[in-house]
Amino acid sequence: MPVPLAWRYSIWVPFRDHFLTEEPAHKKRVAVLLRRLPPLSGAPIRLERVRGLRDQRGEAHAGAFLRARCIAFDCSRGEFPRIFIHELFHFVWLRLGNPRRRSFESLLCAQWRAKSRGELGWSA
Ligand SMILES: [Zn+2]
Repeated sequence: MPVPLAWRYSIWVPFRDHFLTEEPAHKKRVAVLLRRLPPLSGAPIRLERVRGLRDQRGEAHAGAFLRARCIAFDCSRGEFPRIFIHELFHFVWLRLGNPRRRSFESLLCAQWRAKSRGELGWSA
């Protein structure tokens, strides 16, 4: 599906319109998760369910297609929150720039050296 020209540029959109999906279950789950995040900006991101999603290593729970502004999911309901946040932050990292990425890398390295426990118990 071609991406409309207006989506290719950073435009302000109402908070509720940040995500486009045909999946009613995605709408409800995303609305709950977004209440726990800081405000977002940027063009809408399309959320799709894709059965049998795979990457070069095999089965995949999801994939973020940054240029197309789309996230494809093939995961259970229970894993959706963790996977949605992970995939959403691929869009954040893209815009963050190397100084902030390296600053976060330093923070993670310091936590690793201190043997800190992960907040979610999963790799980020
Ligand atoms: Zn990832």
